[in-house]
Formats: sequence, structure tokens, C-alpha cells
Amino acid sequence: MTRLYCNAPLAINTQLELPASAARHTMVLRLRPGDDITLFNGEGGEYSAKIVDIHKHGTTVDIISFQPRENELPYRVTLVQSMPEASKMDLVIEKAIELGVARICPVESERSVVRLTEERAEKRAIRWKSIIIASSEQSGRNRFAELDDITPFKKWVESHESQPTLMLSPHAKDSLADWAFHNQPQDVTLIIGPEGGFSREEEGLAVRYGAITVSLGTRILRTETAGMAAVSALTAIWNRTDP
Ligand code: SAH
Repeated sequence: MTRLYCNAPLAINTQLELPASAARHTMVLRLRPGDDITLFNGEGGEYSAKIVDIHKHGTTVDIISFQPRENELPYRVTLVQSMPEASKMDLVIEKAIELGVARICPVESERSVVRLTEERAEKRAIRWKSIIIASSEQSGRNRFAELDDITPFKKWVESHESQPTLMLSPHAKDSLADWAFHNQPQDVTLIIGPEGGFSREEEGLAVRYGAITVSLGTRILRTETAGMAAVSALTAIWNRTDP
């Protein structure tokens, strides 16, 4: 079943001219009148719709029913990702959405190689938002994750919300798994360093502000792997149905 993000108010028993980007998708996918599709607008739940008309200038659908389907993790995971090289952040965002992350905070840490001008940062943010949409379409999420502006790491530390904050480090003595076993599922923040890791000063600052350093084992993971591995580990430990 095709799932499309529809940037418009949706209501059952109405006919809707799809917004341009969703209409373009229906053309690309070669859908035809009579085809069923699923629409969501990022505010929760999803709508079943049927294509009534489709042509070069637009696509019209009948919205038939609403399913209040939620596909969020029962706790909010915030991923604080130090800006990695080149376009690796695209991958980090795509995978974070698939894995259920609710908020992504890109931070510039001391050893982040990439520094973006304001103009380039704005362009990146637009691209990242479109990745959030595409990945939510694909993975069945009906709510969009929040995406923060790129923030200097120290500033982020000094202003972050108070919830358990785990700083991932290959040198930490405690393991993420042990922490997750000993703590109930709850909103949590995961901090991932850049290719060169965090400086001692950054680590010290985060710990002074309440972060706990935890490890995923003794192998050094790439920065783009570490967040995915951490979220997957939490999910595996916290989402067991057999108590
Ligand atoms: N040279 C750096 C490694 C950086 S790896 C160092 O020795 O610290 C990039 C980031 O991925 C790290 O800052 C950390 O947040 C995360 N990471 C990589 N491997 C990890 C592991 N085994 N356990 C926990 N975090 C890890």
C-alpha cells in the first residue's frame, strides 16, 4: 500500500486535490483511478483514500476512513549527533527515523570537521526535513520527529532538558545494556561524538551536567553506526513483550 505524506488538513468523506509533491508521487508511482492509498499529515493517525482522478496537473482523492494508528516508541528518544563528515548526517537521520527516534539535535563539537555557514545550514535543514518525511512514509510513522537547529555542543549541554542523558563512549566502564536493564523505559537522550570523539573537556562538561557515559563494547564504531546501534539496543531491551 502506497503511503504518502500530505501537507494538508485531512478529513473523512471529503474529496481532496493532493498538494503538488504528493500528486507528483502518485504520477511517479503510476497509480491509477480506483487505486487505494494511505495518507498522513504528520499530526498522528492515517487516512485511507481512493484515487478518483489523476493527470498531469493534479491528483484528486476521496478520503474514506481514518485509523488512529500510532507507531511511536512508548518513550521518546532524543538523538544528539555531532556533525559528521560530508553527507553522513543524511544516513543518520534516515536510520534514526526508521528506528523510532523522536527528536534529532545536530551539534557542532570541538572535533566536528564540518562547519556550515548559516546559508548552507538552512539548505541542509530543508534536505533533512525531506529525509524525515520520506523515512516516515517508508517506515509507517504518522508523526514527524522534531529536528533542532545545529547548535554548538557546549551550548546544548548547558540548556538541555533534564531526562536521563547517556553519552556514548567506547572508553566508558558501564555498558548501555546494563543501564537499560536497570532502568525502566522512559524518555532518554543519547549523545554521539564525531569521528574524532569528544574532547576530555566536552566529556567532563556533559558529566557535570548529569550525563552518564556508557559503552556499546570495545570496538570503535563509526559515528554514523553508534546512534543506530544504541537505539536498537534500547529497543531490544525495553520493548520485550515477555516481562
Ligand atoms: N577516536 C574516538 C572514537 C570516535 S567514534 C575515541 O577514541 O573516542 C565516534 C563516536 O561514536 C564516539 O564519540 C562515540 O559517541 C560513538 N562510539 C563509537 N564506538 C563506540 C562504542 N564502542 N561504544 C559507545 N560509543 C561508541
